[in-house]
This record gives sequence, C-alpha cells and structure tokens, in this order.
Amino acid sequence: MYHTFLIKYGEIGIKGNNRHVFEDALAKQIRLSLAHIEGEFQIRKERGRIYVECGGAWDEEETIGTLSRIFGIVGICPVHTYALSDIEAMRRDIVAYVHEEYPDASATFKVKARRINKEFPLTSMEIDAELGEAILMACPAMRVDVHNPEILFDLEIRDRIYIYSKQLPGPGGMPVGSNGSAMLCLSGGIDSPVAGWMIAKRGVKIDAIYFHAPPYTSERAKQKVVDLARAVARYAGPIRLHVVNFTDIQLAIYDTCPHEELTIIMRRYMMRIAEHFAEKDGDLGIVTGESIGQVASQTMQSLMTTNAAVHMPVYRPLIGFDKSEIVDIAKKIDTYETSILPFEDCCTIFVARHPVTKPLPEVIERSEAKLKGTIEELFETAIRTTETFTVKP
Ligand code: ATP
Ligand code: MG
Repeated sequence: MYHTFLIKYGEIGIKGNNRHVFEDALAKQIRLSLAHIEGEFQIRKERGRIYVECGGAWDEEETIGTLSRIFGIVGICPVHTYALSDIEAMRRDIVAYVHEEYPDASATFKVKARRINKEFPLTSMEIDAELGEAILMACPAMRVDVHNPEILFDLEIRDRIYIYSKQLPGPGGMPVGSNGSAMLCLSGGIDSPVAGWMIAKRGVKIDAIYFHAPPYTSERAKQKVVDLARAVARYAGPIRLHVVNFTDIQLAIYDTCPHEELTIIMRRYMMRIAEHFAEKDGDLGIVTGESIGQVASQTMQSLMTTNAAVHMPVYRPLIGFDKSEIVDIAKKIDTYETSILPFEDCCTIFVARHPVTKPLPEVIERSEAKLKGTIEELFETAIRTTETFTVKP
C-alpha cells in the first residue's frame, strides 16, 4: 500500500526566480489543509517536487479529497515506495506494483527511471530495460510502446524506490496567499461564492462581507452565508467574515430616494462599507459576483455607477459568464445546494418593481445628496456594530 503522494504543480513551475516563493506558499497551504484531518503528514520539498508522506491514522479518501482542493496543485500521484537493494529486488517490486494497480493489465507501457541516487550501479536506461523485461515476462498481455504508452511507469531511485503511474486531478491555479488578499461581497446567492472561489484560485486570500437586514432578513439567511463562507473556505482557507447590520441604511434610502433607484443606491453603500473594511484588512480589491446584464443592477451603466462609489479596484470574475456556466461551477465546488435554499436576501426585500437600468452617476448622486445629514451617522453605526469572526473550513 502506498503512503506517499507526489504533488505536481503547473504554473508555479515557470515563475523563474520567484519559483521558491510559490513552492513555499504551496507547501504551506498543503500543511495547513492537512492539519484539519486525521493522520500525520510530512511535506517534503525537493527540486521542483513536493512529496506528502502520510502516517498515523490517515484516510486515503479524505487525504486525496483535501489535496484535490488545494489551489496550485495540478496533479496528485499516489506513489508506492520500496526498499532499495539490487536490480533483482527492483524487478520483483515493479511486477508487484503492476499486479496491484493493474490486476488485469492488458495495455501498452513504458518504464522511465530517474536515478537521483547516483550510487545505484545501473544507469537509468539499463534500469528501464531490466524493468520493462520483468513486466513483459510477468504480464503477457502487456506490450512496450516507448512513443505513446497507455501506462507510463515513473520510477525514482532515491533512498528508496518510488513508483507511480497514476495522476488524480488537482484544481490548478496558484497557492492561496501568493497574490495578496481581497474583500468578497458574499450574499446568499449562487454567484458570489463562485466569484470568491475563482479569485482564491488565482492565489488571493479572501476576506468577506455580508450585509444583513434584520428583521427583514432572518438568522437563517445569515447562517446560510456562514455556510457558504465555510464551503469556499474548504478551498480558500479560513475566511474573516464581516456581518454588517444594513437595515437602517436601507430604510433611510427607502424613505428618501426614488424607489426605482433603491437597488443601485443600496449597492453603492454596500461598496463603500466594503471598501472601508477592505482597507482595514489590508485588501487590494473588492470582489463581487456580478455579470453583465444579469439583472437591472448589472447593466454596463449600473456597473459603472456602482463602481463610481469607490476608489479601490472591483474585481468581477464572473463578468462574462452565463448563469448556467456559473451554476456548473457552483455544483462542482459544492456551494449550489446551499445557495438555492430559499432564504430571503436584503436585495430581494427592498426592491422596486421597475428599477432603473440606465442609472447616471450624476442623477444617482443627486438622489444620494438627500441623505446628507442622516446617512453619516448610520454609516458610522453600521461600521461600529459590525460583527467580525473567522469561518474555518
Ligand atoms: P448572488 O447570486 O451572488 O447573490 P445576484 O445575482 O443575486 O448575486 P445581486 O443581488 O445584484 O446579484 O448582487 C450582486 C453582487 O453584489 C453579489 O454577487 C454580491 O457580490 C453582492 N451582494 C449582493 N447582496 C449582498 C449582500 N447582502 N451582502 C454582500 N454582498 C452582496
Ligand atoms: Mg444576491
């Protein structure tokens, strides 16, 4: 039975001088993620490779599941290791490996040995030939194909012999923490958790903010957002979540501003508060789940007007996605089932029947000007009463 995984990573391999920074970030994320599960794990970095050695009460499925959610990993190869002695033992080991991993093997194959331990007396090519012959003799249905083999047996001769031939997929991307941090506007919907996942996939650490409107929105709606943050945290690591009490600001907007502009003005205040906490948390941008034309508040004009409320860059990773494409990702990352639970969102309660679809920033600013004198204190209070806590995977 194997107890080692070879971790393959793509993009971070091409980073020139920064390469070791990214490898360190990946090794760190692997260490942090495995700390949450049963077992003792050692992470070993070695010339462009990372190995995870598993011991104690580790569980295969859980370990592979955890590794498959770590951004930066493109492949997870289960490695069988054998004691290093002589070529005869090695011939027996490779045959045992083939019998165990491919019991009814009938395929073309190639052996590719790498002699890292230079003390071993045979060259890599001699090892390839010896082991290829051993497989042919033990498994009559196997045939050699050095150009396009169905199975490639990779062998590394180290202090022990490492054999692997299978690769399970990782999520790709870059290790979280290798690209700064951003503030995710996280609602209870389908889109924003996916947007957070996509930004985290590029190595960005995520903080999050949720605008809550009690008693119009319930504790269960808030719990749903916490659950979504937890689901995203399975990939992105622990997420600091700010829960802002937004009710009084929404009521003030409702009482003072034209109803067809409610959503857009509300969105602008959300962005301002998000920017406040983003600056406080040291984030370099704000992330939303918007995509062009999805609803009235996401037309090009609306997005421009929402943007104009803040100085910080606003990242919208779903900008060109259709809803069905977003749903596909939501299902893949396990946020969909939570997102579709039917709890009201503050945007759905204070919503006009005919919202503006082409708001002009100057018109909206004129409406917002009517809030002067009351909004400042409400803004301060919302910030002061915000509840902040960390959501762990
Ligand atoms: P989602 O499915 O993410 O809720 P949506 O299609 O419902 O998006 P809107 O309600 O217009 O769209 O929201 C657009 C974006 O604004 C969301 O993706 C999210 O980033 C942010 N947002 C909306 N409501 C809230 C909220 N209550 N708290 C935090 N962010 C919010
Ligand atoms: Mg929403």
